[in-house]
Amino acid sequence: MGEKEIPEISPAEARQHQRSGAVLVDVREAFERATGQAEGALGVSKAELMSAPEGNLPDPGAEILLICQSGGRSMQAARALRAHGYVNVASVAGGTTRWIAEGLPITKPSGDADFYERYSRHLKLPEVGEAGQRKLEGARIVMIGAGGLGSPAAFYLAAAGSGTLVLVDDDVVDRSNLQRQILHTDERIGVAKTESARTALSALNPRVRIEKFAEHATSGNVERLLEGADVVVDGADNFATRYLLNDACVKLAKPLVYGAVHRFEGQVSVFDAGRKRGVAPCYRCLFPEPPPAEAAPNCAEAGVLGVLPGVMGLLQATEAIKLILGIGTSLAGRLLHFDALAMRFRETRLSPDPECPVCAIGKPFPGYIDYAAFCASA
Ligand SMILES: [Zn+2]
Repeated sequence: MGEKEIPEISPAEARQHQRSGAVLVDVREAFERATGQAEGALGVSKAELMSAPEGNLPDPGAEILLICQSGGRSMQAARALRAHGYVNVASVAGGTTRWIAEGLPITKPSGDADFYERYSRHLKLPEVGEAGQRKLEGARIVMIGAGGLGSPAAFYLAAAGSGTLVLVDDDVVDRSNLQRQILHTDERIGVAKTESARTALSALNPRVRIEKFAEHATSGNVERLLEGADVVVDGADNFATRYLLNDACVKLAKPLVYGAVHRFEGQVSVFDAGRKRGVAPCYRCLFPEPPPAEAAPNCAEAGVLGVLPGVMGLLQATEAIKLILGIGTSLAGRLLHFDALAMRFRETRLSPDPECPVCAIGKPFPGYIDYAAFCASA
């Protein structure tokens, strides 16, 4: 005879054994257990149990019953426990699914069920998982502009569980905004955009903390607005703010997720020169001088396809999430162009300018300038 197979028992049998002293262990992940587990079960994930069996189950002679979702993982865990010297181990056939189907009692463990349910699709991704989701929850993202780019970005960042969203915009909602600025609604015309955005974002995800600043970013307040930011999202619609944000993010060593739209085309990149001097470029490495005002009309003057800031803003949100989680390859050093009419993406490599007045290695910060004058005089 070879090694004895692990016995499988039905949920009803498991319930009886539990009453006579067997230890029932739910080996699913915390987010799976959060929506309900067999009454009286000890919740220890399979990985946790395998890494320290004695810490969780001190008596190797005790009767141990393992349960998971459908019976596969619990069987694997049971075999591993047997190999560790636990002699009396069984697996519950059909798992929690069958336990529930048979009408046996379930409990919801105390703890943050909202967190586990809301983010369950993130928690299933090994690249995010509980640690990543907690990171997102602890993050502070400063969004300059609650308009065309800021709307989709803020919506998805809030949905994704970004802990604190700092919204900076001194504008009020206008009917002409609603063609693309989807945070706002017809009934909130005339309301401050930061307040309108707070209403929309809190309704989507009440866990997110919203801080509002109905201010225009200037040299005088920018460092206060960016304080504590993990990532800055540029949703500004003017060059003066863009240069100001760039300079501040280089000085304060914050990653800046840049986005811009014009008619049917958009651009997005990550400027990370503040943290990666001489390796990643800044906005000024790319555009040392602002374009002449007549060559760079804003949306109000040139028009914009309503969906375009939606596409670009979501690319910005994607980059912001990746930066916070520290996963993937960011757009630092690459400018992504989007042409909606041709439905084509194109990428340009960007190198840091060794003579850049703001981010060149060894160059002290030159100080903030009069950005409105700088952009008007171009
Ligand atoms: Zn630079």
